[in-house]
Amino acid sequence: MAEGIVAGIREILPGIGTGVKEAAGVEPFAAALERRGLSLVRGEIATLQVNTGYLCNLRCRHCHLEAGPGRAEIMSRETMAAVVSFARRFPFRAVDITGGAPELVPDLPFLIEGLAPLAPRLMLRTNLSALSGAARESLLALCVAHRVVLVASFPSTNLSQADAQRGAGVTETAIAVLKKLNAAGYGVEGTGLELDLVSNPVGAFLPVFQESAERKFRKDLLRKWGVSFNHLYTFANAPLGRFRTGLLRAGNYERYMKTLVEAFNPSAVEGLMCRTLLSVSWDGFLYDCDFNLAAGRPAADLKTHVSEIRELPPPGAPIAIGDYCYACTAGSGFT
Ligand code: SF4
Repeated sequence: MAEGIVAGIREILPGIGTGVKEAAGVEPFAAALERRGLSLVRGEIATLQVNTGYLCNLRCRHCHLEAGPGRAEIMSRETMAAVVSFARRFPFRAVDITGGAPELVPDLPFLIEGLAPLAPRLMLRTNLSALSGAARESLLALCVAHRVVLVASFPSTNLSQADAQRGAGVTETAIAVLKKLNAAGYGVEGTGLELDLVSNPVGAFLPVFQESAERKFRKDLLRKWGVSFNHLYTFANAPLGRFRTGLLRAGNYERYMKTLVEAFNPSAVEGLMCRTLLSVSWDGFLYDCDFNLAAGRPAADLKTHVSEIRELPPPGAPIAIGDYCYACTAGSGFT
C-alpha cells in the first residue's frame, strides 16, 4: 500500500494565512502519513470539480463553505466560459458541478450545455430543495436531456434529524423533489438517469458504514415515500467553515478531531479524491479540492486562474494538506 504512493509531502505550516488552526494534541496530518510511510501526492487527474459559488437557499450546520442566502459569490458567465475552454483543452473523465446551490446561479444552463459534450460523466450536486418549484422545471429538463448525474445531499431518513442539520421543513421539500426526480426517470432502473444521495452525519460523529447506510436509506425511502435512488455515499463532516465554528462554540472541536484521528484508515489514502481531482473556485482559480478552497489554500500555493493553465499537475505533484484531511481518511474515506 505504502509503496503504491509516490513520496513527497508538502508540509504546510498550521494556520498560516488560512485562519485554520490545528487542534491541540492532534498529530499533524502530514506527520501521521510520514510515520506510516505514506504520502499524499497527485495521481492521474480524471475529474474536474467546478464550484459555482457560495450562494445557497439553505444555511446547513455542517457546511464547510459557509454557503447561504446572504452570499454574493457566484460564478460569472465569463468564468464559466473559461472553465468550459479549460475542459475542452484537457480530457476529464468526469466533471462535478457543486456549490453552494448551483441551481441558483443564473447561468448554470450555459455551464451545463458547455460541459456536457466534453466529459463522459457530468454531475450536478443539489440540496434538492433548491431544485423545487416551477422555476426549476427547465433546469430539470436540461439535466434529463444531457443525462446529467444528480448527486443530492440527504442527511437522514429521519425528518427531525435531517431538519436539525438543514432547517425546519427542508426535508419534506427534499422528499417532494425526490419524487419528482423519480417521475422524470431519475433513480429508476433502466432509464440511465442516475440519482445518487450523499449523507453527512447530523452531528459531531462519524458516518455509519456506507453499505449498511445505503441498505437502510433504500428501505426507508421506498417504504415511507416510495422513492428510489442509485447509490448512497456517506462522508464525515470536514472540520471547516460553519461546522468548525459550531464545534468550537460547543467546545467539541478537539474531541471531534480526536475521533477523526482515531478512525484514520491508511488504506483510504491511495483512493482520496484529491489525487485525481482538480477543483475550480467560483472566480476561476485552481484548488486541490473543495476543502482546500474552504481553507483558502490554492493549488501549488499559487492563485492560478483556469484560463492560464497550460498543463495539468503531473503525477507526483504535491497536494496542500491540513488536519481537516483527517475527515477524508476516517473509516472508508472520502474518495
Ligand atoms: S481535505 Fe481531503 S481531499 Fe482535500 S487534500 Fe485533504 S485529504 Fe485530500
